Parts: sequence; structure tokens; C-alpha cells
Amino acid sequence: MIDTPHRRFNPLTREWVLVSPQRARRPWQGQVEKTPSEILPAYDPDCYLCPGNERAGGVKNPPYTGTFVFDNDFPALLPDAVEQNPASSNTLLDAIPERGLCRVVCFSPRHDLTLPELDNTAIEKVLATWTHESVELGKKDFIQYAQVFENKGALMGCSNPHPHSQIWAQSQLPNEIARELASQTAYYQEHRRTLLSDYLAEEQHRRERIVFQNGSFTALVPFWAIWPFEILLVAHRPAAYLSELTSTEVSSLAEVLKHVTTRYDNLFEISFPYSMGFHQAPSDGQAHPEWVLHAHFYPPLLRSATVRKFMVGYEMLGMPQRDITPESAAERLQELPGLHYKLRGSA
Ligand SMILES: [Zn+2]
Ligand SMILES: [Zn+2]
Repeated sequence: MIDTPHRRFNPLTREWVLVSPQRARRPWQGQVEKTPSEILPAYDPDCYLCPGNERAGGVKNPPYTGTFVFDNDFPALLPDAVEQNPASSNTLLDAIPERGLCRVVCFSPRHDLTLPELDNTAIEKVLATWTHESVELGKKDFIQYAQVFENKGALMGCSNPHPHSQIWAQSQLPNEIARELASQTAYYQEHRRTLLSDYLAEEQHRRERIVFQNGSFTALVPFWAIWPFEILLVAHRPAAYLSELTSTEVSSLAEVLKHVTTRYDNLFEISFPYSMGFHQAPSDGQAHPEWVLHAHFYPPLLRSATVRKFMVGYEMLGMPQRDITPESAAERLQELPGLHYKLRGSA
């Protein structure tokens, strides 16, 4: 791989990332600072996500024993049709109403168990919940897209440590989905093959950036990664939705999620912060032969528990840039245990 400054193309978003490998010739030297993760109780009487506790507005959570789903008490989107304002006479001041629903999905009643600390059966239950909610939200006539995502850790702005994810479903496609839909559609029309399947075949051939794979899914650091330890998780078969997965594929996906998140925790020996989410095809009632189900993990940490990557300066004004190459990031992640959990013994 090139070791002088170059740019790499992301075919999903059609954007470039600047790679400066010469700046990372002195990797992983010196003291790596660790901040021990806070030990959380299994139940916290002050947590608004724990079973039986009260939320905003006085609603009480049920004594749930598996996953738990509720409508966000402070939603970013509202389901009711909005009175259309008179169209602006100036196209430079464009605004249109957006309707939607925001749901919260608690992974389990346990306040202290993050995704990598759940067993595969419990992760499968989380997947089943994400699937069910995506399908149900997608059935609503005003919903075009259901975005499943998790913000993990205070560094990602997560306001409550009780492990949970969110689903925002809305009446128009979010920017990232619109871009990925256009790219995958154009590729499919030209080649009659799916973009991500072709990309995956190339990665499986080169084996430089693969972190973990099993019979149905591969986790890799994408060629065009922006975040230091970014991971793309791709289905081996061009399924467009979580709901298309067989039970074997769901088990495989749970296994990959466990491996990825455990390796992340083992990287700097802390509960590793990230934003992750699934990209399924739009819930627009159309067939989506171009789409391959995948998930993105965007973790901000760079060198230790306390040294993070910032997207500032040149990146805000110019383009994203990285120093350590995706290949060396993948190599680091490959070496780490994917099941044994260094923080609290074996998982
Ligand atoms: Zn809790
Ligand atoms: Zn995507």
C-alpha cells in the first residue's frame, strides 16, 4: 500500500478521504493512558431506563426481562402531519415538513451490560427487536426510512449509561441513505451486481483489512475509512433488510457484533465508545436489488482511552483526513481477542 499522502474514494458516499501515512511512522510508542471504566450496578434506582423506574412525565417502565422499546420522551421527530407553510418564494430558503417517530430500545434490564457483555442469545434478541421495530415502523404509510443506531459512551454524547439504542423513522430519506442509494443503484444498473458484494469479494481476496468473518457476515476496516478504527460490517448475501435474514444469518450477525465490540473494548482496555448503525434499504415498498445490508461503526478514539480523533480545521473546511492507514488499524484489531474480555475476565 502507498506510504505517501494520497486520497481514497468512498464509492458509497462518493467522497474522498485524505490519507497521510507518513505522519504515523511512530505508532503506539510510550505510555498508553488507561482510564478504568466505571463499574456500574446491575440496577440503578435513579436510571430512567431500568425496569420499574419512572421516566419523564411520570410514565413507569414495566418490569421488563428482555429488550424494552418505548417512544422517546423527547423525540426529534413528530408523527402528526404538519400544516404546510406557504412555500418560500426564494429557492435559497428551502424547507419542507418532516414527520417521524423516535424509539428507544434497551438491550436488557441490566444497567451494566453493554453489547459485548451480552451472550449471543441476548444479542440475537436485540437483533430481533431492531428487526421487528424496523418492519413495524416501515409499514406506516408516512415512513420512508428507519435508522437503527447506538451512541455508546459519554464521549459520543450518550446521556445514560444503561445500554440502549435508538430508531429514528422518518418521512424522507436521510442524507447518508440518499447518497448510498444513488451510488448502489448506479452501480447495479451498470454492472447488474451489487456494489458492496463486489467490494466484499475484493476484500476477501486481498485479506488486508478483514477483522473478523463467519459464514454470513464480514467485519472489515473499509479502504476509505475516516475514523481511526472504523468498521464496516457487510452481509455476504445481498439481503436489503434485517427482516430478510435467516435464523442462521441472525446468529452469525450476533457473533460478528460480539467479536467487533469485544475487540474494540480490548483495544484500549476500556468500554469503547462509538456510534454505530445499520443501513437497510428504504422502507418505501419498492424492491431494492441494489442494496446490501450493512452496518457502520464510527469510533472516535485514536491512540488510547483519552486520545481521540477530532474532525476539525481542515476536515471541517476541506475534507476528512487520517494518519494511521486502514490496513494498520485492521492489523491491530485482528490481533486482539474477540471473545475473551480483558476488562472483566472472559465474556
Ligand atoms: Zn439503567
Ligand atoms: Zn451505509
